Amino acid sequence: MDYKKLAELLFPEIAAAPEDYEAKYPARDLPEGAKVTRLGPSPTGFIHLGNLYGAFVDERLAHQSGGIFYLRIEDTDDKRYVEGAVDIIINSLRFFGINFDEGATMDGDIGQYGNYTQSQRGEIYQCYAKKLVEEGKAYPCFLTEDEIAEIRAGQEADKVNPGIYCEYARCRDLTLEEIEANINAGKPYVIRLKSDGKPVPAGEEAKKIQVEDAIRGMLEMPENYQDVVILKTTGIPTYHFAHVVDDHLMRTTHVVRGAEWLPSLPIHVELFEKLGWEQPIYCHTAQLMKLDEEGNKRKLSKRKDPELSLDYYRNQGYHPAAVREYLLTILNSNFEEWRMVNPDAPIDEFEFTTDKMSNSGALFDLNKLNDISKDVLLKIPASELYDFLKSWAEEFKPEILHIFEDRDYLERILDLGRNDNKPRKDLVYAQQIIEFISYFFDDMLKIEDEMPAEVPAEDVKAILDAYLATYDHSDDQSMWFDKIRTIATEMGYAAKPKDFKRHPEEYKGHVGHVSTVIRIALMGRAQSPDVWEIQQILGEERTRSRIANY
Ligand code: GLU
Repeated sequence: MDYKKLAELLFPEIAAAPEDYEAKYPARDLPEGAKVTRLGPSPTGFIHLGNLYGAFVDERLAHQSGGIFYLRIEDTDDKRYVEGAVDIIINSLRFFGINFDEGATMDGDIGQYGNYTQSQRGEIYQCYAKKLVEEGKAYPCFLTEDEIAEIRAGQEADKVNPGIYCEYARCRDLTLEEIEANINAGKPYVIRLKSDGKPVPAGEEAKKIQVEDAIRGMLEMPENYQDVVILKTTGIPTYHFAHVVDDHLMRTTHVVRGAEWLPSLPIHVELFEKLGWEQPIYCHTAQLMKLDEEGNKRKLSKRKDPELSLDYYRNQGYHPAAVREYLLTILNSNFEEWRMVNPDAPIDEFEFTTDKMSNSGALFDLNKLNDISKDVLLKIPASELYDFLKSWAEEFKPEILHIFEDRDYLERILDLGRNDNKPRKDLVYAQQIIEFISYFFDDMLKIEDEMPAEVPAEDVKAILDAYLATYDHSDDQSMWFDKIRTIATEMGYAAKPKDFKRHPEEYKGHVGHVSTVIRIALMGRAQSPDVWEIQQILGEERTRSRIANY
């Protein structure tokens, strides 16, 4: 067979030679050890925690080493292309502190290695498919869906591995004349790799390939033997072929991708070999898992778990620093230890490494994120929190923007109990914070809890009247509490809870019940930070009017 003639027959319009692309996309001029990574999302507009998890690895590897992190849009499958998806991807990741140096943007490409959108790279893929055909390493295959189904049925009956390979690859040995006749007859065809691999007869050892994965260590897998499709009937490449061509020409050094791609690694190894290129370093990340209600580990699912979507974190108003901090704890097993030793160090000082990554499922746990968020928010000054909450509210809760009118008031609220020796950790995410502090604003004050059962209705009124009568806004904390104690004892409540516990028959209740009455009148809640401090923030007028109007 004259493969050169075949290649010309199949790709008459491809004039460029592989050398032209090699010259156009030369090795990158980067310092020794600099890593080049990429994110290759499909533009469906849905960007999820798994993308963020992978992007974080890419970003750290590139930016820690003085390398490049770029965005490539993988739009060769039939998934829906959502208008504005590129912007969604870039903005969602930017919010979490992940920035691309190069690649696709809404306003066109940035960088010398484009085009960065796969659907625009047709000629490049075809050029390399042509090269493989020319070298007898790929061929056109005219099998119809029905014929493939028939082959598969036969394979099932014979109990042999399914697929198009060896003797089942019926188009491998077509003559040039047969191919020409098929093309002239308008028969559609794909281009398949002519694999050198062999399936292993049952009971025998498969020929193995070895790949050193940066996360998983040395992988040993049976070699590929399938004549996989590299160009579909439309001339569009499959993921396998696009991955190999793009990551070579874009000079990617590290391919970070999900574990779902592990089974096709042997195909990629063979493709790199047939094209005569060096493989990148593969980093196959673990699946994100969660514990379900029964305590079983399962994959996060788009349908069942709203927290899989990145929008969830923005809607809820998680601070990006908290999400970053949390992701690092599940990404690198030594991060928490590092954080303990370096409580105040900027997070980017932590040296991220792929060999400290888990290769079994990474467990995602919202409660743990919330705990970490409490610690992270504690370190963020109130003025910054104010700005963060305001920009969140502008986007997600404009109806509460009035709470930002008095900056000083809101900052004091946010700082409540945060500067003590044992600071309170009440603040978790914007949605929760707004709910938590809502009682400071008259229009959002709700009476949520009931008065304590120990205090009859007439006592409630008497307590509040006495409180108002003796209230002096300038009392210090101990003077203020002495007055509550006096009111309590005068009305038959124990001055100390332990007295009440010892002799419940002698009292109606204790001072705690009395102060709960005041708390509920002021805040509508039986639980809150320190009442005296809250009153200092509310101010005298608001304090008095709430007590008077309960
Ligand atoms: N487009 C592929 C995906 O969304 C990218 C995989 C890769 O990073 O190679 O899964």
